[in-house]
Amino acid sequence: MSVWAVLVAAGRGERLGEDRPKAFVRLGELPLLAEPIRRLDECAQIDHVVIVAPPEWEEPAILLAEEVGASKVAACVTGGATRTDSVRAGVADVPDDAEVILVHDAARPLVDDAVVERLIGALGEGFDGAVPVLPVPDTVKRVSEGVVAETLDRGGLVAVQTPQAFVASVLRGALNPVRANLAQATDCASLVEAAGGRVTTVEGDERLLKVTTPADLARVRGWL
Ligand code: C5P
Repeated sequence: MSVWAVLVAAGRGERLGEDRPKAFVRLGELPLLAEPIRRLDECAQIDHVVIVAPPEWEEPAILLAEEVGASKVAACVTGGATRTDSVRAGVADVPDDAEVILVHDAARPLVDDAVVERLIGALGEGFDGAVPVLPVPDTVKRVSEGVVAETLDRGGLVAVQTPQAFVASVLRGALNPVRANLAQATDCASLVEAAGGRVTTVEGDERLLKVTTPADLARVRGWL
């Protein structure tokens, strides 16, 4: 089975308040992007990786892949205005004979083999997609203009992470075309769900935290 990973790193990361895209903010010795490149490259279940970089940052991304000795990076393409556009650009460079496509946010640097194994195992059970999830510890309310409109039943709620794994043909179908109301989708599973795909869940990992703020960056640094 041929498994390709699309690593989306083309976000601007404005909430970090740095002078460069989030993927190029320093994490340890190297820019953040080095960590997920190295980890995906070392993952035995993954055959090839496509990096999606911000415009003008394709070259630094390739140099970084070389610096960490990555041997599975097949291409580095330019991202788009939305996450979905960036995923589409990456998936376009995945060859037709790929069977599974794993989409991962570079902003979640600490991806590991265990979660990838759980995802690929779940696809083997006949699902179109699989996503890592964590329970939601807080009470969750829907708020309208500062006023509580509804308290949701926490029992049925989970927080969803990446990587997310899909049968390649199903993900391609869900990306082309994307319905207008899903243009701002924050993950790929929502596109696959909207296209009628069956998506299952596997256990997530607290260390797959998405770096959004300087405090998140410090937390991930502490886990390195
Ligand atoms: O913006 P956010 O942190 O939710 O983005 C999640 C992931 O999607 C990040 O790794 C980011 O680099 C990527 N992204 C992208 N292209 C965009 C927006 C986000 O590749 N236009």
